[in-house]
Amino acid sequence: MTDAVVAIGGNAILRCGEEATVENQMNNLRRTCAPLARMVRRGMGLTLVHGNGPQVGNILLQNELARDEVPAMPLDVCVAQSQGQIGFMLQQAMTEALRREGVARSVVCLLTRVMVDANDPELASPSKPIGPYYDAAQAERMMSHGHRMREDVARKGWRRVVPSPRPLAVLEEDAVRGLVTAGHVLIAAGGGGIPMVERDGRLWGVEAVVDKDLAASVMASEFGDLMIFLTDVDAAYLDHGGPAQRAIGDATVDEMRRYLAEGHFAPGSMGPKVQAAIDFVNNSERRAVITSPELLDKALESKAGTRIVF
Ligand code: ADP
Ligand code: MG
Repeated sequence: MTDAVVAIGGNAILRCGEEATVENQMNNLRRTCAPLARMVRRGMGLTLVHGNGPQVGNILLQNELARDEVPAMPLDVCVAQSQGQIGFMLQQAMTEALRREGVARSVVCLLTRVMVDANDPELASPSKPIGPYYDAAQAERMMSHGHRMREDVARKGWRRVVPSPRPLAVLEEDAVRGLVTAGHVLIAAGGGGIPMVERDGRLWGVEAVVDKDLAASVMASEFGDLMIFLTDVDAAYLDHGGPAQRAIGDATVDEMRRYLAEGHFAPGSMGPKVQAAIDFVNNSERRAVITSPELLDKALESKAGTRIVF
């Protein structure tokens, strides 16, 4: 069986400006799951890695607002919670889509931990803004709770910043492999996985977030035959946003490496997707595709999206 690892971007779950209701998220997920279920019907194995940006942001906000009533949970627990809530919605949407295709398959969501290096420089100097924007007084209060805050002058607000260390390995790797081999549709490493470090012979969750595209690539490099990045653009572009922007169709790993070095892909958005695709294709000598859920069928026939080969 061909095993695909699919990184599902935030907009496949919640579009920009939409309220994070269950209805909105389910509607987007149904749209995303339709082409994925067709892949399963055509005989492909699927491992789904979803993002969690808006959802974990809302969980953090709930914790902040309720902290005088209910103890606030640390970020690793919030990431675990986001894996549960998004995993359930994705499981529901995927089950519906598979039934519509007449495919009998279990959809399994695995709470997944990801090892990071205890000496990763990100842990000492965090770079990733998460959660809502706060005014100066609220930011002061957040700092008194031990959170690192950074002012975003352009947006006139403060945000919490947390480390985004590089994923090294998925702790449940053997379970992932077993579930995929058994033919289940697997949801794993949601939100990039719960970041863990080893210290004094014990495993500890850390207050950090892992990029879901990079976590997906770590898993795909172990057992994947194909990697797919679903996002809100139809392809990766050169000179993105400029007058001469053009979509990349077929490209080799070396070409993508050169474009990345030339600065075509913004860090924190297209950058990690391209890096994750390069890592996977380089390790596996297989194929990666970057496209939107709407164009997935066409991209798999090499008629849309960005297709990266060794
Ligand atoms: P996701 O939730 O799917 O990870 P991101 O916002 O992180 O979504 O990444 C997708 C975004 O990357 C696009 O909406 C686009 O604005 C941005 N982007 C940055 N550079 C590029 C590029 N070179 N080509 C295409 N999109 C790009
Ligand atoms: Mg992203």
